[in-house]
Amino acid sequence: MDRSTTWPFADGQPGEFTYARYSSPTMVEAERRLGGLDGGTALLFASGMAASTSIVLALLSSGQTIALAEGAYYGTSVMLDELAQWGVHYVEFDQTGAPPAGVDLVWLEAPSNPFLTMPDFDAAAVHPARVVCDATAATPLNVRPLELGCDLVLHSATKFLAGHDDALVGAVVCKRAEDATRLLEFRSRTGPVASADTAWMLLRGLSTLEVRMARQTESAAEIVERLRAHPAVETVRYPGFGALLSFDVADAAAARRVETATRTIVNMTSLGGVTSRIEARARWEGARVPGGLLRLSVGLEDSSELWADLEHALAHSADATQSQRPRSGRLQGSPRNRNPRESDSGSAPSS
Ligand code: PLP
Repeated sequence: MDRSTTWPFADGQPGEFTYARYSSPTMVEAERRLGGLDGGTALLFASGMAASTSIVLALLSSGQTIALAEGAYYGTSVMLDELAQWGVHYVEFDQTGAPPAGVDLVWLEAPSNPFLTMPDFDAAAVHPARVVCDATAATPLNVRPLELGCDLVLHSATKFLAGHDDALVGAVVCKRAEDATRLLEFRSRTGPVASADTAWMLLRGLSTLEVRMARQTESAAEIVERLRAHPAVETVRYPGFGALLSFDVADAAAARRVETATRTIVNMTSLGGVTSRIEARARWEGARVPGGLLRLSVGLEDSSELWADLEHALAHSADATQSQRPRSGRLQGSPRNRNPRESDSGSAPSS
């Protein structure tokens, strides 16, 4: 790996690499690998949000409107709220149907996080606007949006692609050369680029992606079956592939009891890593999600151990419901659990 930020000219002429804000060898290697998986030209960014923000600022202009999939990653709508001061607005729509007419960019998510809906790709493909699909939770192993009529794919590569919770990195994969050229120009000028170390960690993650995804998916499917049969579980959402799922227990208090009772499954945010994690999303998203919604990202641990852990936590939750013990949970009133949109602290949404 080359950690340089600048490279010598040859005979007074800048070569392929001159300065790391424009491009660097390890990043280009990771971009080639990811571009190959998605079938387009990939560009890496400092995070998934840096990639999302760059799409909006580089490809839209003031006065334009985005149609955003309802229930898509909460941070995307928060980012768009932030950018409203620059004159770019959004409307939400049900991505299982056709996007509204008259918008300048359609923003899909496959599958949406944490509702796990899938877009109607055929309906989006015939829309005259550019279509971007956030395929973070699917990865190119499950969904290749460019082959389904989209113009851009967005990845929080922080998640399954890098896979180890140690690299914050985003990517946009473009179908058209003009979009890639414009995004590269924007990234070089404004600087939200990935570092060489991060690109290296992404390369490492990509080399094990297939085996990780296969095992995580197998365990997720098994857990989904068991959750569907569990009396304390009301709704289970799973798109039929991948390792991200969500399910509802009775209410916010029950969700708090479950997430704090698991042991193998860590109570933390984010998704796509080798470690399984669970969290009640209402702490971040407020009333936008059911209070009892728990998001589970299944990792590489033994699936029977994961189920034993969940079953124990669900039983613990049910016992507590029956005995009606008063609890001092943090869900009500704690700043940590306020909806960031309503917060005056400016706290950022989690992943
Ligand atoms: N898109 C989705 C679907 C996500 O889940 C996230 C983060 O959780 C992002 C984008 C943002 O990515 P990052 O956290 O790498 O900025």
